[in-house]
Amino acid sequence: MPSDPELQQRGRLVRSLGRWREMLPGSLVVRHRQCGKPNCRCAQGQNLHPQFQLSVLVQGQPKAIHIPAHRVEQVRRWVEMRQRFEQAAKTITDINLRRFLRSPEQEPSPD
Ligand SMILES: [Zn+2]
Repeated sequence: MPSDPELQQRGRLVRSLGRWREMLPGSLVVRHRQCGKPNCRCAQGQNLHPQFQLSVLVQGQPKAIHIPAHRVEQVRRWVEMRQRFEQAAKTITDINLRRFLRSPEQEPSPD
């Protein structure tokens, strides 16, 4: 293991990437809607039904994918994984940029 704390941190982050392999793009959003049944609790415009969607870009086009209630917590975790992945990627690239600026001629170092 390298003694440089930045390299240790980078190595930890790189090794943690597999933990986030189920990550999903986009964001989980909740919409409240009426179901259309005249006798339902929602018919007065209150007590609407929450409906979860994964809001994503697919080939550049915004899509809202319906998420059934029993999968909401799973999808929430998978979307959060992507945010943690991006934080880790930013930390890794920040470390690499600092190292590059300190000594731009150096070879890539092993982790
Ligand atoms: Zn309803």
